[in-house]
Amino acid sequence: MGHYEKAWQATLERIAAAERTAGRGPGSVRLLAVSKTFPAPAVRAVHALGQRAFGENYVQEAGAKLALLADLRDIEWHMIGPLQSNKARIAAASFDWIETVDRPGIAERLSAARPEVRGPLDVLVQVNVSGEASKSGCMPADALGLAQFVASLPRLRIRGIMGIPAPTADAAALRGQFRQLRSCYDACRAAGLPVDTLSMGMSADLEIAIEEGATEVRVGTAIFGARQAK
Ligand SMILES: *Cc1c(COP(=O)(O)O)cnc(C)c1O
Repeated sequence: MGHYEKAWQATLERIAAAERTAGRGPGSVRLLAVSKTFPAPAVRAVHALGQRAFGENYVQEAGAKLALLADLRDIEWHMIGPLQSNKARIAAASFDWIETVDRPGIAERLSAARPEVRGPLDVLVQVNVSGEASKSGCMPADALGLAQFVASLPRLRIRGIMGIPAPTADAAALRGQFRQLRSCYDACRAAGLPVDTLSMGMSADLEIAIEEGATEVRVGTAIFGARQAK
């Protein structure tokens, strides 16, 4: 078995088990493999196993990797890190999804910069449910309005909601944060937006996230191993 095969398979099995426990259909939760800090050959190896969607946090790091992996035509790149306005142009050209849209200005820039030769850019609105003002993401009360704004822009396609709960050993507090994200997602659906993606849950907590309605989990460590400190 290759270096990553066991870990990748085990992650898929965790997702499948969580789907069963939650009474959700097989395949209702998608795996986003978070490859930040790992080099292009690691991504290539996991792609060869059948993984297609990969997440990156830094525009510059991703740019170098994308160039080295340009021959993988069916790979799908998701931006999951905070996005600075001055990186919007390159992000709109490089990524297939931006999961971290948290203000109208960045949405406008991404729409304006999305190249005509690419389809519309898939977007998630990032919501801050950690209660920490320093964290990225819009306030839960602003999520629907921002999602509606994204939907109104010509080169963006609203797909749903993303969030990163504050790490806590308190399972009830964690669950509460996932529920807040779920209720933002439900509000988008109720308003008639064509959303299908609720991105929440990582290596340590994907089971709880799936119980609370995640349709995409973002997993780095459990597939690629521990990251070096930056
Ligand atoms: C790094 C990262 C992940 C993956 O975290 P793991 O604990 O390694 O699975 C998921 N989401 C975001 C936004 C990240 O930055």
